[in-house]
Amino acid sequence: MTPEPAGIVVVGASLAGLRGAEALRRGGYDGPLTLVGAEPHRPYDRPPLSKHVLAGALEADATRLPELTSLRARWRLGSAAVALDRAARTVRLADGSVLAYDKLLVATGAQARPWPAETGGDLAGIHTLRGRDDARTLRTALVAGPRHVLIVGAGLIGCEAASCLRDLGLPVTLADPHPAPLANSFGTFVGGVIAGCLRDAGAVFRPGTQVKAFEGDAAGRVVRARLADGSALEADLVIAALGAVRATGWLRRADLMADPGGLTCDAACRARAADGTACPDIYAAGDVARWPIPLYEGRLVCVEHWGNAVEQASHAARNMLAGPGDQRPYTHLPAFWSSQFGINIKLVGLTAGADSVAVVQGSRASRRFLAVYGQAGRSIAALSFDQARWLPAYAGAILAGAAFPPILDATDQPRIERADPGFSPSRASASAPRPVEVFHA
Ligand SMILES: Cc1cc2nc3c(=O)[nH]c(=O)nc-3n(C[C@H](O)[C@H](O)[C@H](O)COP(=O)(O)OP(=O)(O)OC[C@H]3O[C@@H](n4cnc5c(N)ncnc54)[C@H](O)[C@@H]3O)c2cc1C
Repeated sequence: MTPEPAGIVVVGASLAGLRGAEALRRGGYDGPLTLVGAEPHRPYDRPPLSKHVLAGALEADATRLPELTSLRARWRLGSAAVALDRAARTVRLADGSVLAYDKLLVATGAQARPWPAETGGDLAGIHTLRGRDDARTLRTALVAGPRHVLIVGAGLIGCEAASCLRDLGLPVTLADPHPAPLANSFGTFVGGVIAGCLRDAGAVFRPGTQVKAFEGDAAGRVVRARLADGSALEADLVIAALGAVRATGWLRRADLMADPGGLTCDAACRARAADGTACPDIYAAGDVARWPIPLYEGRLVCVEHWGNAVEQASHAARNMLAGPGDQRPYTHLPAFWSSQFGINIKLVGLTAGADSVAVVQGSRASRRFLAVYGQAGRSIAALSFDQARWLPAYAGAILAGAAFPPILDATDQPRIERADPGFSPSRASASAPRPVEVFHA
């Protein structure tokens, strides 16, 4: 008697896991399919958490993702995968059960980088924001009316949270070591626009500020942040928006190229073993995957964007079902959106390594503009603030490797404003082949 096939196991039951599983079924896979999720929830959407949920416009529980295909899957929710045995082709879960697989899709995403416990991270009143439960707890704490909210980290989540909190009328200070908000993502030239938005909204932005530790009261509640210059900031509620670490801890002993920076894959989304060979039965997609991006000279990137999770999961699923001779490379143009201070922000491409930026439509002063980033005379990214109509055209120019700035008929300015984008030196040298974290940096 032939043994039952073990089937496909997807570890990580969120956006990439769900869309990957759906793509497997749509691609004709009819065998056993298991989705393993550390959280007890069916897949839900994260972008609304730092926007509508914090604002109180949407309940945290109302973020469930639509399931687009009949999955006929076995769901193992609320029990994290804790170990992978590649030789035995099994995944062990926290509840002690062991799942066999023929093929495995790793979609474990990322976790919020916590504030270290040694410097006050375990005090009550310090929050991170990654999951639905975090958003619910944080929203409850906001409704209680904190007197001094401190957000540490002016990346996308920190800025989105600041925007929501000001809409709620809460006092907010946003502290970041960089000279401008969003400096890692957009550079200081564009980040300065967000600094203006923060100011106009009544938030206090503290550039060049290094928080060293948090101090609490006798009850163990945070009361202040101690800064590197010795001064202190009062805070009875803190949001630590410090970026993310990829959820690869469970792969620690699997002899893969995996670390907190991601699980390295080849161009076909196959996980690489520690010796560099591609594993034919293990694929990765979404925030956890570190992959060589063809458009940017094969540089290894972790792209923490919603659109990448969807597209890469579908691509990995396609390759999982294809033969070894039909493994297609993943050629994706990264793209994301954010909304804050009433502005709809969209980015296509990667800004890392940009040495110039040009405002080709609108103006920074009006907070309505389209800017293009260039590197060594080539257009590498385009960013719109409430000016996305021509963004697809610029995306096309980036894909075509157009010169910087690309000359498109949409230019409605007598003069294109060109500048240094203002990335920190470590960020500006990102053209070297090293891992780059793109979102939530
Ligand atoms: C607050 C917030 C706002 C965002 N806003 C935007 C936005 O405006 N635009 C945009 O483009 N992107 C945004 N993003 C990013 C986007 O949500 C992510 O890129 C997307 O969620 C990635 O999906 P994923 O499935 O790869 O990872 P995740 O969504 O992180 O899901 C991974 C899942 O795997 C589970 N898991 C982890 N370890 C294990 C384990 N060992 N065993 C089993 N399960 C495990 C996790 O619990 C989680 O459910 C935002 C993210 C956050 C957190």
